[in-house]
Amino acid sequence: MKKSDSVSANCTGKVSGDTESRRTFLKKASAATIAIAGSDLIIPEDHGSDRYQDKSENIPWYRRITRWGQTNITETDPATYDIKWWRSYWKRTHIQGIIVNAGGIVAYYPSRIPLHRQAETLGGRDLFGELCRIAHDDGLSVFARMDSNRAHEEFYNAHPDWFAVDKSGKPYKAGDLFITCINSSYYNDHIPSIIKEIIELYHPEGFTDNSWSGLGRDSICYCVNCRNSFRKQHGMEIPPKADWNDIAYRQWIRWNYNRRLEIWDLNNRISKFAGGKDCIWAGMNSSSISGQSRSFRDYKEICARAEIIMLDSQSRNDAEGFQQNGISGKMIHSLLGWEKLIPESMAMYQAGRPTFRLSSKPVNEARMWMTEGIAGGIQPWWHHVGAYHEDRRMYKTAAPVMSWHKKNEEYLINRYPISNVGVVWSQQNMDFYGRDATEQMVELPWRGITQALIRTRIPFLPVHADHIERDGKKFSLLILPNLGVMTDNQVTSVKKYVANGGNLLATGESSLYDEWGDLRHDYALSELFGAHITSKALSLSGDKDIRRYAETSHTYLRIHPEMRARIDGPHNNSEPPASGDRHPVFKGFEETDILPFGGTLNPLETDQGIEILMTFIPAFPIYPPETSWMRIPKTDIPGLMLSEKGRGNRIAFLPADIDRQFGRYNLPDHGNLLANIIRWALKDDFLLSVDGPGLIDCHIYYQEDRLVLHLVNLTNAGTWRQPVDELIPVGPLSIGVRIPEGIRGKDINFLVSGKKSSAVTDKGWSRFEISALLDHEVAVIL
Ligand SMILES: [Zn+2]
Repeated sequence: MKKSDSVSANCTGKVSGDTESRRTFLKKASAATIAIAGSDLIIPEDHGSDRYQDKSENIPWYRRITRWGQTNITETDPATYDIKWWRSYWKRTHIQGIIVNAGGIVAYYPSRIPLHRQAETLGGRDLFGELCRIAHDDGLSVFARMDSNRAHEEFYNAHPDWFAVDKSGKPYKAGDLFITCINSSYYNDHIPSIIKEIIELYHPEGFTDNSWSGLGRDSICYCVNCRNSFRKQHGMEIPPKADWNDIAYRQWIRWNYNRRLEIWDLNNRISKFAGGKDCIWAGMNSSSISGQSRSFRDYKEICARAEIIMLDSQSRNDAEGFQQNGISGKMIHSLLGWEKLIPESMAMYQAGRPTFRLSSKPVNEARMWMTEGIAGGIQPWWHHVGAYHEDRRMYKTAAPVMSWHKKNEEYLINRYPISNVGVVWSQQNMDFYGRDATEQMVELPWRGITQALIRTRIPFLPVHADHIERDGKKFSLLILPNLGVMTDNQVTSVKKYVANGGNLLATGESSLYDEWGDLRHDYALSELFGAHITSKALSLSGDKDIRRYAETSHTYLRIHPEMRARIDGPHNNSEPPASGDRHPVFKGFEETDILPFGGTLNPLETDQGIEILMTFIPAFPIYPPETSWMRIPKTDIPGLMLSEKGRGNRIAFLPADIDRQFGRYNLPDHGNLLANIIRWALKDDFLLSVDGPGLIDCHIYYQEDRLVLHLVNLTNAGTWRQPVDELIPVGPLSIGVRIPEGIRGKDINFLVSGKKSSAVTDKGWSRFEISALLDHEVAVIL
C-alpha cells in the first residue's frame, strides 16, 4: 500500500502526463496502478477503453446494450397488444434492447413442448415471435424472459415427481399453481427443451428467468429427487426442520447453493450450444443480499460466471433510501467487474409500499431511483406490467432519464470507482451469523456504517470478505460492520492487510464466529483489537451462542475523560472548565459526558496500551420518570477502543453496536460518532470534500483522462419514507476533489445543468462550486 500524501502516478512503467501516451500505456499494460493519496486504483487490462473506438460487432451485445425496456405481458394482453405503439415508445425512450415474456409457466408463442401451456388469450397468436422479429428489425436485442418455478394442475398430475413436497408428501403451492422441484426433470429436461425450442424458432440474443432458483430457504422439499441427491452427496437425510445448529441443515444450505449454480451452468450450456457462444442465460437476481440468501443464490459465484447481471430491484425500501441503489451497483460491480453491465428493472408503476401495478409511480420517486442506480454504475431498464394502461402518466417518466443517459453514456460506463474506504461483507455472514435475524444481525450494522459514510460524504466501496487480499491495497481503511462470521482465510487476510499498514474499524462481534456461525473462544482478530472475550461471558453462554438479538435497552456510554467529575464532584449544571484533553473522536460532544446507546455490552479483557475511550452504563428504568436514574453510573466495560500499530496505522474497535443503533434509529449522535471514528481511522486522508447543506450521496469514478463525480441530492420530504413528491434544491456547494497525475483538474463540465466552469487547482486538489443541486449533478473533471 502506498502511503504517500502526494498525488502521483505510480504505474508499473513510465507514465507521461501526455494523454496519448497514457492511452497507449493503458492499452499495453496488463494492469496499471494509479495512486491517489493513500490508496491505489488498479485499472485492469480489460478496462473497455476500446469500446468507443470500436463500434463493430466485435463487442458482444451484452457489453454494448445500456438501455433496456420491458413490458411484462399479462395473460390478457395478447388479444390487444398494440405493437405499433410500443415500437414508437421503444424509440422515444432510446432503448437498445427489450425483455419479452416467452415461456415457462405460460407460453407466449405456439410451443410444441408437452404441457407448456399457452397464455390465456394467446389464441394461436405468436406474440413473442412478432415482438422478437420487430425488435430485431429495429436493431434491438431481445432477452427472452422465462418464469420457471411453478405450473398448473394438469402438469402436476402428469409429473407429480417434478414438484416440491413437504414432509408429508403434500405439494407446495403458490395460489393455484404447483411449485416445481429444483432437483427434478422439470429443470434438467423440460426448461432446457423450451430454451432450445425458442432459440430454434426465434434466435433471441439471450434468456432471463424471473424465478429460476426455485423454492426458497423457508420451505424444505422432501421429494424423492431431493432425498436421493442429498443422501448420495452427504450420506445423510434431509434435515427435519430448519436448525442452524444441525449439521444436516448446514449441509443442506450449501447443497442448495450448489444446485442453483448447477442450474446456472446447465442453462448457459444449453443456450450457448443451441444459440452460439454469445447466447447467454442470465437468470435474474436481487440487490438484497438477504433475499439472495433466502433464494440460495451465491452472488460471488454467480458473478464469477456471469457476463451481465440482470437486476430485479424495482424500488427502494423506506429504511435504506435511494442510496441503496447506488450501493447495490457498487457492490455487484465489485464482484462482477466494472467492465461488465448491470441493467436494473425500474418500475414505472407504483412498486413498493403499497403496490399498484396499474398506477404510475410518482415521477420523482421513479426518477430518483433511476438516478441513484446510474450513479452506482447501473444501467436503466424501464418496466411496465401489462401492455395497456389507463394511467398514461407512467409513459412520460422514463424518457427524460433515458435521453439524458443516451447523451452522456460515455461518462456513465467504462469507469472505475475511486475510494479509499472499503466496507466488508459476505453472504456467508448473512447466512450463518444472520441466520433467522438477518436484519438485526447483519443489515442494520451495514446500514449504519454506510449511512454514516454517505452522511459524511466519504465515497466507499463494498468489499467481499474473500476479496480483501485481492482488493485490500486499494483501501486506506477497511470497515468490518459486525462481521460476526469470518473464515480463517478472511481473518488471515485482514491481519495481512493491517500488517501492510492498513487502518481498520471493526464493530460489534466481528470475527467472533467461525464459518458455520459457531462461537470461537475469542475474537479471531483479538490481537488487532487488543480485546478478548472473558471466560465469564463464554461460560454464561454455555459456549454456544452469545449473539445478541439487538433489543433496545435504556443504556448509555460514558465518554472518557469526562468534562466534569460527575461521580466524585459536586452536582451542578454549570459549564465545566474547557478541556483540550479529549480525543478527536469526540469532536462536537464537548457539552456532554454521556451518549445514548441502546445496546448491551459484556466485560472484555484488554491488552496493555489499548486506549478505552468509552465505557458502558447499564440499563435503568425509563418509567415511571421518578425511577429514571443511573443505578451504576460507571463501569470498566469497554465500548470503544483505539490503538496504533507498528506503521502508525490505526485500529478502532467498537464493541458497542453504534452502527446497528444508527441503522435502526438515525440518531445524529450515533452518526456523528461513527463519522468521527472513521475520520480518525482514515487519518483524515480524504479524496473528496463537499461543503454545504443537505444529505448528498457522492460517487467518484476514474476514466482515462478525467474524473466523473456524481452528486445525488437525497434531501427531501421523503428521504426516509417513500414516495418523494417534491424535490428540494440544496446549495451552494463547494467541492474539492483529489486529482491523480494525468488529469489537470482545471475544467469542469456539468452533465445535468449543461454548464461549464473552471476549477482552482491547489496541492493536488481541484476546487469548484455548484450553486444549486436539485436532484443530481454529474461533474466531469478534466
Ligand atoms: Zn425436491
